[in-house]
Amino acid sequence: MSSLFGKPIDTLKGVGKKRAELFAKLGVPTVGDLLRFYPRTYEDWSQTIDIEETVANEVNVIKAEVLATPSEQRIRGGMILYKTTVADESGEMQLTFFNNPYIKSLLYAGKTYLFRGKVSSGFIKKEMTSPDFLPESRNLPILPVYPQTQGLSSRMISDAVKQALLLLGETVKDPLPAELRQQYELCHLSFALENIHFPKSEQELATAKTRLVFEEFLVLQLGLMKIKSRRKENNVHLVSSQFPDEFAELLPFELTGAQKRAIQESIDDMAGKTPMNRLIQGDVGSGKTAVAAALCFAVIKSGKQAAFMAPTEILANQHFNSLQVLLEKCGIKVELLTGSVTPKNKKRIAEELIAGEIDLLIGTHALISETVAFKNLGLVITDEQHRFGVGQRSALAQKGEHPHLLVMSATPIPRTLALMIYGDLDISILNELPPGRQKIETFLIDSGKRRRAFGYVQKHLEEGRQGYLICPLIEEGESELTSVTAYAKIVAAFFPKNTIGILHGKMKAKEKEQVMQNFAKGELDLLVATTVVEVGVDVPNAVIMLIENAERYGLSQLHQLRGRIGRGKHKSTCILVSDSQQEDTIERLKIICSSSDGFKIADADLKLRGPGDFFGKRQHGLPQLKIADMMSDIEILKKSQECARQLLESEEIQEEPYRFLRAEIRLLFSKSQDLTFN
Ligand code: ADP
Ligand code: MG
Repeated sequence: MSSLFGKPIDTLKGVGKKRAELFAKLGVPTVGDLLRFYPRTYEDWSQTIDIEETVANEVNVIKAEVLATPSEQRIRGGMILYKTTVADESGEMQLTFFNNPYIKSLLYAGKTYLFRGKVSSGFIKKEMTSPDFLPESRNLPILPVYPQTQGLSSRMISDAVKQALLLLGETVKDPLPAELRQQYELCHLSFALENIHFPKSEQELATAKTRLVFEEFLVLQLGLMKIKSRRKENNVHLVSSQFPDEFAELLPFELTGAQKRAIQESIDDMAGKTPMNRLIQGDVGSGKTAVAAALCFAVIKSGKQAAFMAPTEILANQHFNSLQVLLEKCGIKVELLTGSVTPKNKKRIAEELIAGEIDLLIGTHALISETVAFKNLGLVITDEQHRFGVGQRSALAQKGEHPHLLVMSATPIPRTLALMIYGDLDISILNELPPGRQKIETFLIDSGKRRRAFGYVQKHLEEGRQGYLICPLIEEGESELTSVTAYAKIVAAFFPKNTIGILHGKMKAKEKEQVMQNFAKGELDLLVATTVVEVGVDVPNAVIMLIENAERYGLSQLHQLRGRIGRGKHKSTCILVSDSQQEDTIERLKIICSSSDGFKIADADLKLRGPGDFFGKRQHGLPQLKIADMMSDIEILKKSQECARQLLESEEIQEEPYRFLRAEIRLLFSKSQDLTFN
């Protein structure tokens, strides 16, 4: 099989240079890729029903005899209709085709064909308009429908696949050895490939699909687990199992029960035999930073260093500001390293770090740059983790000798997805908000009410509060800048007396930082921003947010955005603006209005929009899945996970029968820039 990935697609009969280019466009440069280019859906011709039983407005397949050669009929506009009547034992049906002169030479009177199309109840007889048809054959087929591109039809692809399957031959090497297939009741690869493209029945299609989904998940899991496999390592950074009471005294507030639990669970890990490998999932505002601070404290008090990586400069700065104030009181030295630190300071930090003079280094991915080296790195924390690629995580961990790992995710991720992204992490959940938080009231309005909404914002500003206006999403071809500036102009005209800041992704880190700080200090009343404010920014005096084009965001993203308000003692309000008329969209937005539970919202998001929001646009560093679906194939995902663990633990994966599976893993991960796998 893997050799077919070295065979260019134009080695197939009927695929020339031009067609090969079209295949390349579909991401299918080789014969191997073609075999793994699975149909998008299938046309089922296998279930024929009597004409009498056909249902109007549904696609039906009938097997019927053509009663007469199609007749020609000219109608207005130069259009030509071809009509004929077909019949089976139960009744007759009228067929109509438009502008297809070949019909007369394709459908012969007295012959029987399969017809597939939408049925309508005609004036006298039932009718099908422009049905597809196939000659009658004993094997009633299920036909593949492939993702197509201009000039390359599903039928052409299907013809090429037939050729490719011939090359596959009987001797194909299955990456899943016989024993494993038996254990998990999976079919052979050649059966799977034949039947995923040309299934003989629904059942055989299901068998093929199960096998391919399992394999895809297994390869992915093995790759990921291998990357993070740390289970056999010894814990070389033992931390006292005692919760640091001293730490609680540093805090201006009492920790919530959930925070204490998460801290204790992590400390138990760090006092255990193997390094900690834990994910903390918390809703927005649940106080993850305090948990991170507690763990840094514990590790540093046992004589090690800690590193804390955030995805943006704004966040890194914010963490630095709060942790420095907190921890320096007890003699802990905290430093900040981001892209905007001057070379001179970078050099100084590097020196102090290797000398062990810095206890906690906070920063952006600048932390993984080559010049950064620790004396004794015991704990690595990454915030808003799913924005980092898997590779970036391990790059930071490699700066120490098997340091403890803590991942903090601010987007509550449905359990099914967490299993996938963080397959091998233990999970703590912060399901409790600090006391005294006000519920954020959320409303949905259309743009006709925008002026009134602006007036409402104005009222809050007059009371000394601050607000966010989340800028309309940009159209294709338009730059982020034009969209933000245009919107900011409208805003400025409406709020002439207020100070307004602008924040967007195209700004230099320094400028963003400046604006954010001005806003945090209260020097700006309003912040017109794109979703760059989504991550973690904490300004308790900001109590109102208006989000334009709300329909274009995922629910979890809206929840994150909304989490920027409701962080202080004042009541907060979020206004969603949308002119969408689509019922399902409005339903979706209503979920946000009625729920404040990030986990529930994430689940709803997953059901309604699929995993794209968690997986798609975000830079997760995972290879693309071809056939497996995170939602509907969750049972197979669990089985493959169990299988992957077992193969790694027993080290069977290193044995000869798994040679081809190892090749598949390498192949999959070779396409992902972020991962290296040996
Ligand atoms: P997130 O989990 O979204 O990262 P943060 O760590 O930014 O949340 O915390 C949100 C706010 O809540 C901060 O202002 C923080 O000081 C405050 N906070 C955290 N824990 C508590 C607590 N136990 N009691 C009161 N306030 C808290
Ligand atoms: Mg946070």
